[in-house]
Formats: sequence, C-alpha cells, structure tokens
Amino acid sequence: MARYTESVCKLCRREGQKLFLKGERCLSPKCAMERRAFPPGMHGKKQTFRRKTSDYGLQLREKQKARRIYGVLERQFRRYFEEANRTAGMTGVNLLAMLERRLDNVVYRMGFADSRAQARQLVRHGHFEVNGRKTDIPSFQVSVGDVITVREVARSKGYFKERAQIMQGGSSSVPAWLRSSVVDMKGEVLGVPAREDIEIPLNEQLIVEYYSR
Ligand code: SF4
Repeated sequence: MARYTESVCKLCRREGQKLFLKGERCLSPKCAMERRAFPPGMHGKKQTFRRKTSDYGLQLREKQKARRIYGVLERQFRRYFEEANRTAGMTGVNLLAMLERRLDNVVYRMGFADSRAQARQLVRHGHFEVNGRKTDIPSFQVSVGDVITVREVARSKGYFKERAQIMQGGSSSVPAWLRSSVVDMKGEVLGVPAREDIEIPLNEQLIVEYYSR
C-alpha cells in the first residue's frame, strides 16, 4: 500500500497549523511549528500563511488537512466522501463520522496510542481484537456496541504495560461516544460520533464544496 514517507512535520508547516501527528513531541518545544512556523521549501520563509487564497485554495487546503490528520490517501478519502454523500444526513458530518470510526482512530481516541500513526501501526501488527476476532485493518469501521480489546498475547509487552500506566495517570481524554478501561485493556463503542464529539478544527463544508465542484 502506498504511504507518505517524508517528515510529517512538513505537513503541519504546509497547513500553517499543528495537526498533532506525532504524539508527545507535538506538545513539546521540539515541535517544528514552534521552531519553524513557515511553509517548507526553499522559499518557505518568504511566504506567509496570511496570503490571499482563492475559494478553491481554501477548499483544497481543508481537504488536505483532513486527509493528513487521519492519514488517508486521496483515493480512499474520495471513497469516504462518496459513501458519506450517499448516506442520509449532512455529507460533511457523515464524512467526519466515518473517519472517526476507523479502527486506528478509535484505538488512538481510546488512549492506546499517542498518535493515529502509532495506532495504525499497532493495529497492523495485530495487537487488537474487535468482538473477540483479531482485526489488523486500520480502516475497519467500528459499529455501535463493538468491543475493542488488546489481545492477550500483546498485554505482556512493555509497550502496553507502559501505556496502562499513562492511561491510569488520566492524561488522555476519551470522547463521549467511546469508553475505555485500562484495567481490562479494552474499550467499547457506545454510539455514533456526533459533530460536537469531533474536536478537530476542520470546516467540513469546505471539503464538501471541494468535491462538489
Ligand atoms: Fe505537527 Fe506534531 Fe510535528 Fe509539531 S511535532 S509539526 S504538531 S507533527
């Protein structure tokens, strides 16, 4: 599968805002947006994020931002949009809900990983079960009532032991549509994510306009 292999900090610098793609580092002074808050590239310093942008430019940037936050490639993102468009309700909200219901995002939101990229890797390595079945597909769409569990064989690994301590410290906040239990190393999907549960600063209407041109 194709994937983005360059520095992800460049993506934040391109969008002109923190996209929180690297977990802990994003909150530290080492964050590239703290040290080099200008677009990447040879002429980056001469550009400003305030320059006038066309409507198309704004729509494109919003779509790119959403793709980068959730780590989804263009073709797959378009498929999400088409499905969101076919589903009853507001297309933009449907789209965000589908992205939120990806298994890698759910693992991240439950607190089992520091970033979506890390969660994706953990899922790919087969450390999770959904309703008792090993599931290693990051794009798997969870449904209401699904139970996500760290697999028995993975629990003794140093990573999950450390993670349990971090989760016990309460540093991650779980959204209302999910529940996670550090003691049992599992979580449950309680409902469908509503727009207010998705705190990511995205204007989904611009994404809808981009694909509706
Ligand atoms: Fe973005 Fe995080 Fe890199 Fe900062 S550290 S630029 S927020 S990915």
